[in-house]
Amino acid sequence: MGIIYNMQRYSLHDGPGIRTVVFLKGCPLRCRWCCNPESQNPLPEPMLKNGRQETVGYEASAEEILRAVRQDEIFYRKGGGMTLSGGEPLLQGDFMLELLREAARYHIPAALETCGHGDYDLLRAACGLLGYLLYDVKSLNSAKHKAYTGVGNERILLNLARLCEEFPRLPKRVRMPVIPGFNEEEAQEIMAHAKQYPNTSFEPLPYHAFGVPKYAALGRNYSL
Ligand code: SF4
Repeated sequence: MGIIYNMQRYSLHDGPGIRTVVFLKGCPLRCRWCCNPESQNPLPEPMLKNGRQETVGYEASAEEILRAVRQDEIFYRKGGGMTLSGGEPLLQGDFMLELLREAARYHIPAALETCGHGDYDLLRAACGLLGYLLYDVKSLNSAKHKAYTGVGNERILLNLARLCEEFPRLPKRVRMPVIPGFNEEEAQEIMAHAKQYPNTSFEPLPYHAFGVPKYAALGRNYSL
């Protein structure tokens, strides 16, 4: 069993083709701009929705999730698949691997969206089951990274280097959320960093503030 907070069908932005995205709850980072603050706490929590208190996050088994994911199997035969996102899926490592193994059992191509801040052996095990990897690089400056996300970037950059060496054929996309006042001037540098690796593309993600109202709904402040 694991804890997820959402599933999204027909996504066009989370890997190749049309995908079903499974959002796992819990993240080791606290990015100041995070547009899904309800993803950070690993446990279900209260959140105001339309003036009513509801619980965000629920327990689900890999079997239940795959049953829902398989409803869109027709898209997966045309290049789509299932994408695990978060939060950070590595934080529920065993559950993440269970979902990936179940997807493989049904021949559903799987992708993973990760911030890269996690155990390398888990990431390695996941990459062995993936058809595509989306990997966030937010800044090459560790002090700045720590000030805006709560953690330095050493582990993230090292994990990326190691997995690119071990999985040179796995298609990868390095994504950079472009955040005003934080990393705008680093885009060229991060793109060059990504391009040094085989089979690796680069995508800047524009900043948006759609998640800001969620902070108040969770009783928190938006600190960017
Ligand atoms: S890594 Fe992603 S989910 Fe985690 S805090 Fe940062 S933006 Fe939010």
